[in-house]
Amino acid sequence: MIKKFSRIYIEITNICNLSCSFCIGNVRTPRFVTVDEFSYIIQQAKPYTNHIYLHVLGEPLLHPQLKELLAVAHHFDMQVNITTNGTLLAKTQEILLNAPALRKISISLHSMEPNSPYQKEEYLAGVASFVTQAATKGIFCDLRLWNLGADDVDNEAIFISLCRLLGLDYTAQETARLKINESGNTTLMPRIFLGKAARFTWPSMAEPRTEQPIFCHGLRSQVAVLSDGTIVPCCLDSQGDIALGNIFQLPLTQILSSERAQALYNGFSARQPSEELCRRCGYATRF
Ligand code: SF4
Ligand code: SF4
Repeated sequence: MIKKFSRIYIEITNICNLSCSFCIGNVRTPRFVTVDEFSYIIQQAKPYTNHIYLHVLGEPLLHPQLKELLAVAHHFDMQVNITTNGTLLAKTQEILLNAPALRKISISLHSMEPNSPYQKEEYLAGVASFVTQAATKGIFCDLRLWNLGADDVDNEAIFISLCRLLGLDYTAQETARLKINESGNTTLMPRIFLGKAARFTWPSMAEPRTEQPIFCHGLRSQVAVLSDGTIVPCCLDSQGDIALGNIFQLPLTQILSSERAQALYNGFSARQPSEELCRRCGYATRF
């Protein structure tokens, strides 16, 4: 049976151990989703999708009950995708590599900014070691350099170190290396990919407004649950500006059929977004 959403984002925590210069920052109460809450969310989400992504804002590998959450996801036959800044891979690798539910891990290499408290070589070595093991276990690994256009990072140096740590023949990667500052995706090894894209700006009410027609897959192919249970239409509404309801107070079905949710869906059909935040979002075209 085809499910309505290709993915549902579940923010298991909005707490992070980094403070990236490009991050919108958390303005909500810091919290971790409990195992019971996670189980409830999964049961609500299951009729709509088989794929969950444990991230909106925050660092999911900080969750103290990560193992239990992954077990719950497996129990309900959910495929799990995790986006992480990669700093805690060594600490959590035993849990991750032994989680049958884990399908894909996306590692934001662009979090390794010059002001990072983590040492770059050590960080990249940890990432390379993890992805090598994960790929042999059938887990897809997506390494991200979403920082094109930023002038304070040397992507070529990162790429060269990564190739060396992965034991890749550098010459064989010559073409990819030459295009390191162009957006696109490269397969480095079976199940290990490198994705390059421009640095994006989070949608925010402080961003300039556009009157252009806008279409977005928010609430069409995805929906997100923030760590306090607030339902928002996409993984980018990190501040809960488009709060459609709370899953701990109303069933997801009811929230999705609410007047505000319907207006958002129909607004995108007409290329006229009903929400002010969507008029201040440059990301819609990237979905
Ligand atoms: S790793 Fe993600 S959540 Fe953490 S500060 Fe950086 S952008 Fe923000
Ligand atoms: S336009 Fe932006 S803020 Fe609005 S639903 Fe889409 S991604 Fe979210």
